[in-house]
Amino acid sequence: MINIFWFRRDLRLEDNTALEEALSSGMPVLPLFIFDSNITEELSHNDARVSFIYDTLSSIDKELKKWGSSLLVKKGEPQKIWQDLITTFEINSVFINKDYEPYALLRDSLIENLLSKNNISLKKYKDQVIFEEKEILKSDNSPYTVFTPYKNRWLQKPAEKLPLKARDSSVSRKNIYECNFEFPLIEMAGFKHSSMKVRPYDLSAINDYEKFRDLPFADKTSYLSPHLRFGTVSIRKVVTMASNINQTFLNELIWREFFMQILYNYPDVVTGNFRSKYDGINWINSESGFERWCNGETGYPLVDAGMRQLNATGYMHNRVRMVTAGFLCKHLLIDWRWGEAYFAEKLLDYELSSNNGNWQWAAGTGCDAAPYFRIFNPHSQQKRFDPKNEYVRKWVDDFNMSSYPKPIIEHEYARQRAISVYKQGILKH
Ligand code: FAD
Repeated sequence: MINIFWFRRDLRLEDNTALEEALSSGMPVLPLFIFDSNITEELSHNDARVSFIYDTLSSIDKELKKWGSSLLVKKGEPQKIWQDLITTFEINSVFINKDYEPYALLRDSLIENLLSKNNISLKKYKDQVIFEEKEILKSDNSPYTVFTPYKNRWLQKPAEKLPLKARDSSVSRKNIYECNFEFPLIEMAGFKHSSMKVRPYDLSAINDYEKFRDLPFADKTSYLSPHLRFGTVSIRKVVTMASNINQTFLNELIWREFFMQILYNYPDVVTGNFRSKYDGINWINSESGFERWCNGETGYPLVDAGMRQLNATGYMHNRVRMVTAGFLCKHLLIDWRWGEAYFAEKLLDYELSSNNGNWQWAAGTGCDAAPYFRIFNPHSQQKRFDPKNEYVRKWVDDFNMSSYPKPIIEHEYARQRAISVYKQGILKH
């Protein structure tokens, strides 16, 4: 009889809660990964995130082989795969780290039913956040919808129960299931290798985080986001470092958890405005305007640099994400859901909770959002955050050349129009 540990968005062997629990359970642990076809079918064949997942799994498999084990990799519809696994192996329990996205919650509850019908228990652990679900609530037991009080509560709580101690995985390695599965080619999952790469994270500059975090040309942020997304680093390790070194940086990690608990407690945000008073906004939704925005051809250099960086690398600096997102919603009056979907397709760090939360923030429709009448002037943002045009020049080859597009819309006109359209939308509600 064996236990199975199912890797999902926790792609590491160190300080992995459910894996450690499985290895301490006393039964041999078989490590498993499934390329979930419900997710992969939506992606292009050279999606860089799948390449990253694949390369990470390959390293994990190599390490497991040193332990005398290997990774079982499957592709397909998870329920069907689990049905097959149940008939192939004699399974006692399945160990997973929790995933809080609506699709994952549904999938896991279906698998839990299937397992339980076969007398197999599903053991679920918190791993990708410090505080999950409803662990941080207001005194009336409702979720926080404003960041600062959430953050204050989050910061008070650690003294009581912050689970920061990294686990020592070497202790229980001997409980791994001995096997030698062949590690598949990426083509088995229906993909090709991508030339776009996830950068390693770098925490060496976070001492001075607040000095440069808003300066895209400095390019000194941590690049942690895809690693937190896919669990190639432990959040406990990162929070421990951040707590000792830089409070502003820690706040950003708390924003991540804030949006995760918003998504968990208010899953309707996936398709709808957090604040329904904005449901009446009459978006213009111009296809050609959207295309120019996607291609980085709006004639606003900071917006275009951001979109071109995104298209070329799968990254975009946070300040520039704020400017490009605000520009789409307010200057072009295009529904935030269009921009959110485009970012979801392109960002290497795409994370439903953070993407949705930040898009709704930029559109003014979110929980703790920028007020609708606060409209960034992309030129002033450029002067302030890229005063020597270093970032812009890096991404916009034709900056200041005659070939560079004229502004798609005049700023002051767009600002007035946005305020008036938002106002009318609110009145309609
Ligand atoms: P750093 O500045 O080094 O920050 C460290 C970590 O803190 C990040 O890795 C991230 O986990 C967290 N963090 C920082 N800023 C935010 C924030 N505003 N909201 C939530 N968490 C934050 N982040 C994603 O991880 N996935 C997304 O899909 C995503 N979409 C976004 C869409 C828009 C419109 C905007 C404005 C922001 C979005 N962000 C998203 C947040 C932020 O831009 C990225 O987390 C950050 O740029 C990643 O780079 P970094 O790891 O170097 O960040």
